[in-house]
Amino acid sequence: MWGSRGGRDKNTVVCIACGDSVPRADAREYDKEGNRWERHDKAFEYLCKPCFKDISHQPRTELEALICEIEADGLSQAEFLRRYVDRMEEEYGPIEES
Ligand SMILES: [Zn+2]
Repeated sequence: MWGSRGGRDKNTVVCIACGDSVPRADAREYDKEGNRWERHDKAFEYLCKPCFKDISHQPRTELEALICEIEADGLSQAEFLRRYVDRMEEEYGPIEES
């Protein structure tokens, strides 16, 4: 599914969990930061429906632990996101930048 980016459908997003390209309309926006930052500064990530369903059934403690782990005083948003992406890539493999 990696080859579809920039193709016929530019409204395609990549699921951060499984790496599949899915239509934006079918994806679930994954607001990993809650309301911590203004929306316009956020880099939203997306989950396909199956992965969203998976995540919804899992306890959130793991994600919260991860966020607490990579968070540090004075950490910029960009650095936080970079660390987060690094950790997600360790878990799920490379994340395609859009
Ligand atoms: Zn997925």
